[in-house]
Amino acid sequence: MVCQFQRTIQKPVQIKGIGLHSGLPVTLKLLPARANDGINFIKNGVIIPAKIGYAHSFEFSTSLYNDGEIVRTVEHLMAALYLTGIDNLYIEIDNEEVPILDGSAKPFIEAIKKAGIYSLKEEKVYAVLNSYVRVENGDKFIEGRPYHTFRATFQADYPNNIIGNKFFTYEAEKRDAFLGVSAARTYCFLEEVEYLKSKGLAKGGSLENAVVFDSKTETVLNPDGLRYEDEPVRHKVLDLIGDLYLLGYPIIGDVYSFKGGHKLNAEFVKTLIAEDAFDLKTASEVIKSLDVKRKECPDVLGKVA
Ligand code: ZN
Repeated sequence: MVCQFQRTIQKPVQIKGIGLHSGLPVTLKLLPARANDGINFIKNGVIIPAKIGYAHSFEFSTSLYNDGEIVRTVEHLMAALYLTGIDNLYIEIDNEEVPILDGSAKPFIEAIKKAGIYSLKEEKVYAVLNSYVRVENGDKFIEGRPYHTFRATFQADYPNNIIGNKFFTYEAEKRDAFLGVSAARTYCFLEEVEYLKSKGLAKGGSLENAVVFDSKTETVLNPDGLRYEDEPVRHKVLDLIGDLYLLGYPIIGDVYSFKGGHKLNAEFVKTLIAEDAFDLKTASEVIKSLDVKRKECPDVLGKVA
C-alpha cells in the first residue's frame, strides 16, 4: 500500500504530560510544516531534526540531540507519525522528554486526529530497500530485505512464560494494521524497576503508563491487565517502527528483529545508510516499479476512538 501525497496536520495541537524517565512535566505543540520539511523538534529555539544523524543515546529510549539541546524518548511519537502518514511536522517541546502519556502511541494519534490531516501537493518519498542488511549484537540481530510493502516483526525470547518467545508482525498492507500496535504500552519487569531508578531512569513510571510484569509469579501488576495478550511484542514492533522512521522516510521492505532494542534499531538505520541499501523513490515510482496498486492512505483516524 502506497500513499501518494505528503502529509502534515491542519492546525496546531497541544499535548501535555510527564516524561517516563525524567518524571518532568512537558508540553508539546505539534505545528503544521511545508512539504519536504520533514519531522523536526524545536527546543529553546534550536531545531533538532528527527533523523538518525541526530540520534544521541539509546538506553531504554531514543534521544535526539543538536546544538546543546536534547529531546528524549521520541520513539512512540515517531511511530504515531509513521502510522498516520505524517511526513512534515514541527514539534515544539518545553522540556527534555516527550510525554509518556499512557505508554503507547494512541494518545499521539488522537491528538493528530484532533489537529486533522492536511494532504500536501508534493508526492511522498519512500526508502525502498534494495539489498539484504543485517546488524547483530551477541544473539540479538535485525535483518532487512526487499519486499513489496513495509513489514516489521519483533521476536522475543525471554526465559519466562509471561512473554517467552512470542512474536508479532505489522504489515502495512493489512487492513487496520495500525490497530495491532498503536495502543500497545511500554513494559518492564518488577525486578528492573530498582535498577532503572538507580540509573536515574523511570522517575515518571507508574502503572498508568507502563505494564509491569512480575516474572517470579508470572503476573501483570496492572489492575486492568493487558490490552492484548501479546502486548509486549506488539510494543516492541511499535518501538521498531518509531526508530526506523528516523531514517527520514517511510521504508518499503521487510524488517525482522530478534530481541533488538533501541540501540540495535539505530544501528540498523545507520547501516542502511552506510551500505546504500535503499533507493529513494516517489510514490509514483514505487507504484510503477513494484507493481503495487495505488490505494488511498489508510483511514487511521476514522478508527481511533
Ligand atoms: Zn517503547
